[in-house]
Amino acid sequence: MTAPRLVLSAAACALLLAACSRPAAGPPAPRPAPWIVIGVDGGELSVIETLWARGELPNLRRLADAGLHTRLATDYGASPVIWTTIATGMPPGRHGITDFVVPTDAGDVPVSSAARKVPALWSMLSRAHRRVAVLGWWASWPAEPVDGLVLTDRLAQELPQRIHPPERQAELEAAHAEARESGIPFGGNDASQLQDRLVTRFAVEAVQGDYALVLPYYRSLDLASHQSWRLYEPAAFGDPVPARPGDDPVSAAYRAVDQAVGEILAAAPPEANVLVISDHGFRATHGEEVQLLLDLDRVLEAAGLLVRAGEEVDLERSRAFAYRSPDYRAIKFVRFAPEGSDPEPAALERARRELDRSLARATFEGGAPAFRVRLPDEREAGRGAHAVVVADKRAATPTLYFDGAPVRHAIRHLGRISGSHDSHTKGILFAAGPAIQPGAVLPEVTIHDIAPTLLFALGLPVAEDFPGHVRDELFRPEFAASRPRRTIASWGEQLGAETPRSAADRTLLDELAALGYLN
Ligand SMILES: [Zn+2]
Repeated sequence: MTAPRLVLSAAACALLLAACSRPAAGPPAPRPAPWIVIGVDGGELSVIETLWARGELPNLRRLADAGLHTRLATDYGASPVIWTTIATGMPPGRHGITDFVVPTDAGDVPVSSAARKVPALWSMLSRAHRRVAVLGWWASWPAEPVDGLVLTDRLAQELPQRIHPPERQAELEAAHAEARESGIPFGGNDASQLQDRLVTRFAVEAVQGDYALVLPYYRSLDLASHQSWRLYEPAAFGDPVPARPGDDPVSAAYRAVDQAVGEILAAAPPEANVLVISDHGFRATHGEEVQLLLDLDRVLEAAGLLVRAGEEVDLERSRAFAYRSPDYRAIKFVRFAPEGSDPEPAALERARRELDRSLARATFEGGAPAFRVRLPDEREAGRGAHAVVVADKRAATPTLYFDGAPVRHAIRHLGRISGSHDSHTKGILFAAGPAIQPGAVLPEVTIHDIAPTLLFALGLPVAEDFPGHVRDELFRPEFAASRPRRTIASWGEQLGAETPRSAADRTLLDELAALGYLN
């Protein structure tokens, strides 16, 4: 008996074909229990404890109760340096990010991923075909191709290469428009708030995806702490304590971060393990620090000493111009002739006296003299200065006058910094989740231990050339026992690239200067 020959309809055939091609419908592959590492720039434990005492910050409280919290020893001072050490396990001498800027012949350029010389966690996981999402992390622009998602730290700027995969650009732009209008009130400044809102939006999505590691980074709290610490800790500045403490931008920034942590936790699967870390803590500055961005060429122009050709300074026709002196430096170099030609000593002396007489007519509001002119010292003369002009930051006002008339665009920014940090202001480490040992104590845990500890947790090899260590104490013994102890000599180096310039460089430099990061 011949098998009945099935005569199937086209549709039935198609179905059958599909059924044949679809792998056997076994149970879906288990989604990896994501590790979520939330970076909060400038998170200071004493502020958290103060707000906890007022019954605030419920999500950080929940994490601490379910797991552990402690202080994280820090180093290196500058945030991009510390966050790169956290992400690479390496010190700056190896990873290559040594400051907020990269000096070039044409002036400082904001630091970028091109300057990093070793793989970061997101490159290591990609090599191991483990999906990773890194969101807003310092020095991550231009976006690197990873097995997953990169949202760079220049999210708020209209720039190319802000996101990987590039196919998600349109989505980013749509989210951008939305985040401009509404979202968590993170504070800091418009750019940082926009960035933190976008990070939250993509983090909430990412923790529901198939990423082994999700790294959202928050920056507004750091800005708010630099700018408004005096309002948070008025006593440190001899100010009266307000009737309703907690009504200040620093406390508000902590509430916002706590809300964001809550939204991420709510979206994350119960099997997720969560860390909240900061690169450093905060303290009051010793007296407020004035941050002044002053464009001296505008004043020399008002004095008739400087001539422009369009927007550019006409060096041939100008009798004086600022030289190699970014606006954020109160000490400005001045030349009386273009590079390569120095006036005769007598002419130099005459030019200095003219400069001195001219700048004596420049004042701040109320008539306070704005500048002091002096001779350059040997080092300054060696760097090309014919004279040195010192702006009096303490007397600075939002408008500068020449012969009583305001000089437009001379003062580009005037602000006061009252919060700061150094290698003694420790950061925070919170951890909770099925793999975390509740109440564990981690003596002297440092920023160098984060990468090795995470790689171990993710079952990836730990490099022997890491200065830091796997902190076993963090894990439940059964979890630690379930992980293979894999090591490799090193994760190696990666070729740094030419420092990329971007249309946002000046805005970024101004922002860094306004925060007192550049000097
Ligand atoms: Zn920082």
